Parts: sequence; structure tokens; C-alpha cells
Amino acid sequence: MSGKSNKSCWEAARRVLVGGVNSPVRSFKAVGQSPIFAERGKGPYLWDVEGKRYLDLVASWGALILGHNHPAVVRAAEQAIHQGITFGTPTPAETELAQMIVQAVPSVEQVRFVCSGTEAVMSALRLARAATGRSKVLKFQGGYHGHSDGLLSSSGSGLATLGLPDSPGVPASAARETLTVPFNDPAAVRQAVRRRGKELAAILVEPVQANFGVIPPEPGFLETLRELADRSGILLIFDEVITGFRVGYNGAQRRFGVRPDLTVLGKVIGGGFPIGAYGGPKRLMKWVAPAGPVYQAGTLAGHPVAMAAGLAALKVLQAEGVYETLENLGGRLEQGLLEQGAGAGVPVTVNRVGGLLSLFFTDKPVRSSAEVKRSRTAAYPAYFRKMLAEGVYLPPSPFEGWFLSAAVGEKEIAELIRAHGAALDAISARGGPASGGRRSR
Ligand SMILES: *Cc1c(COP(=O)(O)O)cnc(C)c1O
Repeated sequence: MSGKSNKSCWEAARRVLVGGVNSPVRSFKAVGQSPIFAERGKGPYLWDVEGKRYLDLVASWGALILGHNHPAVVRAAEQAIHQGITFGTPTPAETELAQMIVQAVPSVEQVRFVCSGTEAVMSALRLARAATGRSKVLKFQGGYHGHSDGLLSSSGSGLATLGLPDSPGVPASAARETLTVPFNDPAAVRQAVRRRGKELAAILVEPVQANFGVIPPEPGFLETLRELADRSGILLIFDEVITGFRVGYNGAQRRFGVRPDLTVLGKVIGGGFPIGAYGGPKRLMKWVAPAGPVYQAGTLAGHPVAMAAGLAALKVLQAEGVYETLENLGGRLEQGLLEQGAGAGVPVTVNRVGGLLSLFFTDKPVRSSAEVKRSRTAAYPAYFRKMLAEGVYLPPSPFEGWFLSAAVGEKEIAELIRAHGAALDAISARGGPASGGRRSR
């Protein structure tokens, strides 16, 4: 313990950091309290500066798929630091991590590393525009692809959580390059492609939407995107920053059996260090400098520590039955969340792909961001606060996914389900009959 309190940290932070944070959702603004300040983490748990322990379902927004401070990742990062923090000249680790990605991700033959997912999507789009000679991009409502100009329209959680529409400061000319249609709506995509196909460089999609609640693709949806893109000379880009090495070692493209032209990665592949990557077949990647004319560079790109940590993480993921475990535990958690919901008379729906899931307060299926908005998101803040009091750290927004890490076991799942029961009781007592009907116990 450091003798600090969350409150004192928050007051100090707000004086010198804008909004007290370095990424908006971390402010806890959407859940009606101030943030907890992390002091340390181990396995599935993190401890705040007051020494309180939480089961961590944020896991650094999915980056920590092995949990906090996995020994293999820590060892690799330490070794890398001792050898020299950064060089600005190539290191063999960059090739090794690229080799693992090329082996794992079906559509990728060559990779370029950058420092964030935002940067990776931006760069992949530049490449798509160069390769097609077109400028517009089709994205989906609720799809988040980082904060670059032009991709914030109808974007994910950060904006929805804080009630910001699209952001001021984005030039109209940039916003005009983006067309947005509902996710899981093949007719809308077909219509957009029919009207504007000749102007479209890319269809950009999170193959499982995971920044506006978790929304899996309906059967056939990704196939439709592939087909429409092929027919109109449009590149299909999968933003697998969350789904890559998360919904399976080979990402969403293997899980759903659809190959994109370009793939964007981030989060998991850095083992918890800042990273992003984009990749695809050589015929496209050869456009990127220095092989080709599309300029894209980075002082700290391919950072040795991120490479080492990412490599160590992917080796563990490849060797151990992590994804089976996440699937099984995810299934158990889903069942527990639903059973407790039924028991408490609070209608809940769970969307889940492996160890990536979302809870919605509704008894209806949730297949699009419009349906997410129609669920009872107003119940989330009280639910979140009770879960936090019970020692479970969920995303501080109703619009973010929950991330199971491989450090979670049976005991933690039981702990989660118990806390969920208590939190449901808290919100059903609070909300009365309007909050989801009669209580059956
Ligand atoms: C997190 C995320 C990004 C942005 O990555 P940063 O590293 O935060 O810039 C892009 N796309 C998706 C799908 C993400 O989840």
C-alpha cells in the first residue's frame, strides 16, 4: 500500500491531466463515480492504491489475455530492457513476431508494426486508398477503429459513453470520406455499394463488434461483405485489434472462415505494451515504403520491449489450451449470468465469442448498436458500482466488452457469478417493477 487514496489521486490527476485521465472512458464518468487508481496486478486481479483487490475483467482492454504479469511475458520484457531499450535499427525480434503473425493469421503474408491500433488502421486505409485509387471508406455504426479523423463517425464506446456525437475538430472534408451503415444489415451494405461502390477504397469492419457492446456477426454477414468487395474492386479490411489472438489464435478470420484483404492488429500482440500492426498479401503490402510509394514510418515502431513481450505472449497462447479454457469458462459465466438474471427477475442477454462478452439488460436479442441503445443501459452504472464494491472491476461503461483472461479459473467464475447476483439484487430493489418485472425470490 502506498498510503494514497483513490480520491486524493483523482484530485491530483485532475489538476494536471485533462479530465484526470489519458483516455476518456477511464474517467468512470459514465458510471457516476470517480476512478480507482491501479497500484499493481497479478494474474486475474488488480489492486488499487488503497489495497483493495478486484477481479479484473478489463484486462487493459483485452491486451492482457494472459492476465497481469504473466511470468513468461515479464521475463521476456526484462531481458529486452537489459539488452537495450530501443535502437532505431532493425532487431531480430521484429522478424520473429512477424513470422508468428504470418503463421497465425490466414490472410497475412507481410506485416508492418506501428505503435497503436489507431495508427495501424490509419495506415491500412492509406494503403487501401493508394492500391485502389479511391478515397471513400464504408464502416459500420458502433464500429470503433481508433480516433483518427474520418473514422469517428458513429463510432464506439468512448463517444457513446460520454454522449459525444462525432467529434468537433474533424474537418467536414475528412468526415465526408466515410460512409456508415448498420452492422449486420446486408441490405444496407448492398445499397451503399450499389450507389457508391466505385468511390469505395475499403469496407472496414470489426468482424465481431466489440466497442459498442460485443456484437457477433450474423451468419453470412461477413461472407456478404467479402462478396460485395470482390465484385466492386473494394478492399475488405478486418480490424482485428480486439479479435486478433482473442477469439481464437487465428483471429476472427479463421473462426468465421472469411479472409479479408488487409488485417489490423493491436492489443494482445504487444503483451501489454503499446503496439499496432497491419498486414496482408505481398501484392498489397508492397505498396508501403520503402518497398513502395505509400509513406508510413515510426520512431519507436517495432519497439524491442513490445516485440519481446508480444512474442512471449503469443508463444504461451500457441502452446497452451488457452482458447479452449476461455471458451469453457466463458460458457460457464454466460450461463451463470443468465440464470441469476432469471432468478432475480431482471431480464439479461449475453453476447459472447469465447472469452469476450457483453451483458445487456434486455430480454431481446442484441444484433446492432441500435439494439444496444434500446437495452436498459441506464441500469449499468448502479450495477457497475455494486460489482466494484463486491470486488469485480468491469469496464466503466455499458458499451465496452468484458475480457476474460487465461488467468481466470473456476474459482473466479464462481466469484463473478456471486457478485453478479448481488448487483442484480441491488438494481432490481432500486428500480422497482419498471426495472424488469416481478422478483421470483
Ligand atoms: C482499441 C481499438 C483500436 C485502437 O487501438 P489503440 O491502440 O487504442 O489506438 C482500433 N480498433 C479496435 C477494434 C479497437 O478495439
